[in-house]
Amino acid sequence: MTRTRFAPSPTGYLHIGGLRTCLYNVLLARQSNGTFLLRVEDTDRERYVPGAVEALLTTLSRVGLAPDEGPVLVDGLVKQNGDCGPYIQSERLPIYTEYARQLVDRGHAYFCFCSSERLDSLRRQQEIAKLQTKYDRRCLTLTHEEIKTRLSANEPRVVRLKMPEGETSFDDVIRGRITISNNEIDDQVLMKSDGFPTYHLAVVVDDHLMNITHVIRGEEWITSTPKHITLYKLFGWEAPLFAHLPLILNPDKSKLSKRQGDVAVEDFLDKGYLPEALVNFVALLGFNPKADQEIYTMEELIALFDLTKINKSGAVLDTVKLDWMNGQYILKKTPEQLVECVYPFIARVGKTIEDDLLLRMCTIEQPRLTRLTDIVDLIDGYLAVPTYDPQLIIWKKADADDAKINLLAVKTLIENFDANVWSDIALIESTIKRYISDSGLQNGNVLWPTRVALSGRSASPSPFELIWALGKKESVKRIEFALSALS
Ligand code: GLU
Repeated sequence: MTRTRFAPSPTGYLHIGGLRTCLYNVLLARQSNGTFLLRVEDTDRERYVPGAVEALLTTLSRVGLAPDEGPVLVDGLVKQNGDCGPYIQSERLPIYTEYARQLVDRGHAYFCFCSSERLDSLRRQQEIAKLQTKYDRRCLTLTHEEIKTRLSANEPRVVRLKMPEGETSFDDVIRGRITISNNEIDDQVLMKSDGFPTYHLAVVVDDHLMNITHVIRGEEWITSTPKHITLYKLFGWEAPLFAHLPLILNPDKSKLSKRQGDVAVEDFLDKGYLPEALVNFVALLGFNPKADQEIYTMEELIALFDLTKINKSGAVLDTVKLDWMNGQYILKKTPEQLVECVYPFIARVGKTIEDDLLLRMCTIEQPRLTRLTDIVDLIDGYLAVPTYDPQLIIWKKADADDAKINLLAVKTLIENFDANVWSDIALIESTIKRYISDSGLQNGNVLWPTRVALSGRSASPSPFELIWALGKKESVKRIEFALSALS
C-alpha cells in the first residue's frame, strides 16, 4: 500500500517547488489507490510563523491537493484526520524524546554539553587549518558519572548521532545509487537544547511511524539522506524509497529566486493564474510524459506519472509557458464559469460592472486573456468610451472621409437591427458583411474604423462581438463619438 507525504516547514506561503513536490506525492499515491498525507514540520521554533498552517491548508485546498490524512481546516480551525497523528511535529515531542533516548541507551547517540562558543571556535580553528569542519567528539569521552551529574544539574545539552564507521549507500529512484563515506558526515544533532528534535531525527521517526513507502522531495535534501539511512539502520527499520526532484531554475539557469513574490503559489493565484493551470504547469517541471502534449487533466497525470522518468537536470521555470497554459485553461471555461473566476479580482480593486455586461465581456474577451486580471484592465473600456488617437480610426489603405462614410453606414445598420440579429453574433457579422460586399468595399474599410470606434484599441475582439457585447445604445454612442473625433 503506497503511502506518500508532503512535509513542509510552514513558512506562511507555499513555494512553487513545494507545490510540485506535493503534486508528485499526490500523483504517486492516487496512481495506486494509496494514501497521501500532510505533515507539518515545525520543529524549528526560530522560524515559527503564526497562522502558517492555516495558510498552507487554504492554499492546498485552492489548488485541489488536500491530503487524505493530516491537518485539515474545519470552520477555520486546524483539526487532524487519520490514525498516525498528530501530524504536526511540535505536538509529537515525547515521541522524539523517547526515540532519542533509545539511541543513547544503545550507544548510537550521546549527550553533548559543548557550548556554542566552543563549537564556534572549534569550527574556526578547523577552517584555518583547512580541515573538515566537524564536531570533535569531545563529549563522547565523558564518563557515565559525569554525564549523570551534568544531566541532573540540568546543564544545556544536545543529543548527537554517533556516526558509525564505513560508508552509506542508497538507491535514489531518480538519480540511481549514491554512496558516501561516513567520514564526511558530522555527528548530527538529533535533539536540540530546547527539547525539540532536529529535522533529521523527526523526519525519520515520523516517516517510519506513519508507514511512508516513498519519500519524494527536493534535491536540496539529498545530502541529508545518508544521515537518514544511518538512522533507519540503527533503529532496525526498513527505509522507504527515496526520489529527489531536480532543482527549479530561472530561465537563465540560475537558482530560482527566493523572493516570495516570485515563487509563492499564493502570489501566482493572486496574479490571476488558475489553480488548475498552475498544477499542470508544475507537473511538467522535470517530467513530460508525452513529447507532443502539454495540457493534461489530473486524471491523465495520475495515469501517466512515472517517478523513474523524472529528469535529473534542473527544470526551468518558464513563465511565458505558464502564461500560454493559463490562457488555454481560461479558454476551457464557459463564460459563466469565467465570470465566477474573475469576480474576486474585480471586487478586489473595487470596480463595479453590471452582471450582464461582464458576462458578454467575458464571452468575447476569453480567447485573448492570459491572466484573470486582464479582465480587470479591460473593464474601463467597456464602461466608458475609451480615449484614443483619432488617427487610429483611419484604416491604412483609406482616409478620413472613407472612415466617416462607413461608420455612418454601420451606425444606421445597428440602429435597424431587429431582436433576432441582436441575439446572434453571426447574424451581426453577416449583416455588416453584406453591406461591405454590396458596396464593393474591402473588410478593412468598414471593420477597422468600427472596431477602433468601439474599443479604442488596435487589437481587440471583432467589431461584431463588440457590437453584441456593448448593445445598441452604447455602440451608436461610440460611433458618433468617433465621427465627431474625425471632424
Ligand atoms: N521539512 C522539510 C521541508 O521543509 C521536508 C523535507 C522532506 O520532505 O523530508 O522541505
